[in-house]
Amino acid sequence: MNAAGLMHESRPASPSLHLFRSAEGDHLFLPDGSRLYDIDAATRDVLADPAGHVEQALARLGLNPHAAAPMDAVQDPPIRSLSLAVSQACNLSCGYCYAQGGSFGAPARQMSWPVAEQAIRTLFAEAPVGSRVVVAFLGGEPLIHRGLIRQATTFAAELSEHTGVRVGFSLTSNGTLVREDDGEFFERHGFAVTISMDGTPERHNQLRVFADGRPTYRRIEENIAPLLRMQKRMQISARVTVTPENLNLRASLDHLLGLGFHSAGFAPMLASPSGRLQLEPRHFETMLEQMTGCGGEFVRRTVARERYAFSNLTEALRQLHRGAHRPYPCGAGASYLGVSASGDFTACHRFVEDPLGAMGSLASGLDRDRQNLWLRERHVDTQEPCRACWARYLCGGGCHHEVLHRGRVACDYIRGWLQYCLLTYVKLQREAPWYFGSHV
Ligand code: SF4
Ligand code: SF4
Repeated sequence: MNAAGLMHESRPASPSLHLFRSAEGDHLFLPDGSRLYDIDAATRDVLADPAGHVEQALARLGLNPHAAAPMDAVQDPPIRSLSLAVSQACNLSCGYCYAQGGSFGAPARQMSWPVAEQAIRTLFAEAPVGSRVVVAFLGGEPLIHRGLIRQATTFAAELSEHTGVRVGFSLTSNGTLVREDDGEFFERHGFAVTISMDGTPERHNQLRVFADGRPTYRRIEENIAPLLRMQKRMQISARVTVTPENLNLRASLDHLLGLGFHSAGFAPMLASPSGRLQLEPRHFETMLEQMTGCGGEFVRRTVARERYAFSNLTEALRQLHRGAHRPYPCGAGASYLGVSASGDFTACHRFVEDPLGAMGSLASGLDRDRQNLWLRERHVDTQEPCRACWARYLCGGGCHHEVLHRGRVACDYIRGWLQYCLLTYVKLQREAPWYFGSHV
């Protein structure tokens, strides 16, 4: 089915179920608990009847559409992950940057050691023995403040030893400043590193340039080559921000995986601060066509038992296989919080300096009232039109930052993509069932 067909077929007809057809036959998807069933044509006709009583019809099949545990708004969640905006400054000038050149519209600043230390102590103080916490380093460009990253990592690793709380580290970088000795450090501490690259050299250089306009691709390629070779504990992934200028996703994916990234994936640019380079509704069909093109190659390679780490699809398959059922799109404002360079808590790394995501500070403490209000207000069951959407517990209602700043512009694309993921799940269950045992 092409992209237009996927977008059309995945429009919501009922909040309680979604029906779709694959080459193998008819299928029923129940949002509650992400349950997937093969059904016969007669059952499909009964469930598809707009005048029919869906709940009774499901009951006759022995299915309860509300079988999963009820999802009340999360209340006073423990903090398990903090992203530290160690450098609110950047050496690049990408036209779509949500951080507006790295400083988030405020004066450029660097995080001090006392702020980083207090953030890490706060994270560990909340965590019971045996649990796992994550320290994420973001910016701006975090490697502008390399010394703080190393100091904070070493400190957190020592706290982990003393407290019995496990710790993981991640870093998101533009790749222009990373050095071989950074790689050795990241490898030692098992970092998950994400490098922002926008595809093939030509497309990348159109979008990601130094502050003086020079292209960045060659520098990044040279910098990351030794790191890509040394990946063992460390995993280095590429993330492509998709704009109207780089919709050639299949070429991008092949290129990045060819460089040796552990995985690569795509994030649509839905809300840039200036409106420049963000995707418009007319672009989503092309984006979905490209995503399914990448998916087709993933299926082909997987059936042939070859690796093709298209992270959007591998993650979606993992979610479907475990019956994902989530009331939020991510952990932002819940167990995951951002910390700005000056020590303010924010809903996530994108809400730095943004009053919409303000949640207190290290100095005054996490504002639990604000956080709980956020969690009540942002719950997908309170969102329109999400309440009536079959995809709500897979999608979670869309990135809070994008929704709050632009609204929900990509729903047809999101549902079309999720339907494609469901079709791929069904196909792989038939043609490569071992995949779910070994990879998911
Ligand atoms: S944001 Fe997600 S859950 Fe909400 S209507 Fe759009 S696709 Fe459905
Ligand atoms: S709110 Fe958006 S940017 Fe922030 S963590 Fe969630 S998905 Fe990511």
